[in-house]
Amino acid sequence: MSDIRDMVIIGSGPAGLGCALYAARAGIDAVVIEKNPLPGGQIVNTTDVDNYLGLPGIGGFEMGDTFRRHVEKMGGEFIEDDIGSVRAEDGIYIVSGAKEEYKTKTVVFATGAHRSKLGIPGEAQFTGRGVSYCATCDGAFFRNKETVVIGGGDVAVEDAIYLAGLCTHVTLVHRRDELRAAKSVQDALFAKDNVTVAWNSIPDEVLGDGVVKSLRIHNKETEESTEIPASGVFIAVGMKPDSELASGLCDLDEKGYIIAGEDCVTSAPGIYAIGDVRTKALRQVITAVADGACAVTSAEAYLREH
Ligand code: NAP
Repeated sequence: MSDIRDMVIIGSGPAGLGCALYAARAGIDAVVIEKNPLPGGQIVNTTDVDNYLGLPGIGGFEMGDTFRRHVEKMGGEFIEDDIGSVRAEDGIYIVSGAKEEYKTKTVVFATGAHRSKLGIPGEAQFTGRGVSYCATCDGAFFRNKETVVIGGGDVAVEDAIYLAGLCTHVTLVHRRDELRAAKSVQDALFAKDNVTVAWNSIPDEVLGDGVVKSLRIHNKETEESTEIPASGVFIAVGMKPDSELASGLCDLDEKGYIIAGEDCVTSAPGIYAIGDVRTKALRQVITAVADGACAVTSAEAYLREH
């Protein structure tokens, strides 16, 4: 076997795993490089996934594990490594990891996204001491306590619903007077009797004494300032793409997403972007997995020519 692979897939979330499955079926010599041996990417932080066809109510961890076992069964290869850079050299790509260098004809970025920070006073100071970005990871620490969730998207509302099952009370702090989240999750939120929504409210400061004690907010209509007592402050104000490795290699949009259409083809030959790191309208598990399939189809045509 040549030491130049056909494809290196960086990331083992649903997009990377979908890509690895299609690559294995297409007879492409591909490897998935994962930083962390826990497959599934962001989905492992979700309790129940109800919108993936055929797997109603599956847990996020179980979903990642099911996807990974499917890829392994089809002959997919995985390597644990932390990739530091990707560069073009003599018509191929060199993917440099902490352990090894990988030579490849094509690279698929399936690097995903992570939660944005708010940047308010107290946020960094109390991270890990009451401020969290993952309700399913840290929620159990706040059993029978009061918590606050900041944000109005799917993640914030799902976090608030999850925490309502553990905490005495949850306050959802949202900067507008309507939520961005899907109607189905909004309905589930409004059915909870221990959740209050602080509408039109801007978070100003996380307050505490070694650990979080409260969140100070102000209402942008009335300008009134309030302190919400809370042991936990969960921040869910959107995502930031993990596209640093692609920067300088292919075009990114103004938010840092790798620019690619449905065929997942980027501005650089042989470089593909799939899942949450790609410019797209709908970031869901089902669209991430589909991207993996589309990238393999695009790469097959490229590999035939090169
Ligand atoms: P999102 O949909 O972008 O929502 C971010 C929320 O944070 C918005 O409500 C936004 O307010 C608020 N926000 C942003 N910056 C803020 C700031 N500085 N201060 C206060 N509030 C701020 O992000 P997400 O909820 O993390 O979801 C990311 C993607 O994953 C979305 O496409 C979502 O649909 C998808 N997702 C889907 C599912 C599912 O289908 N089950 C589950 C989870 C996530 P505004 O509304 O005023 O902009």
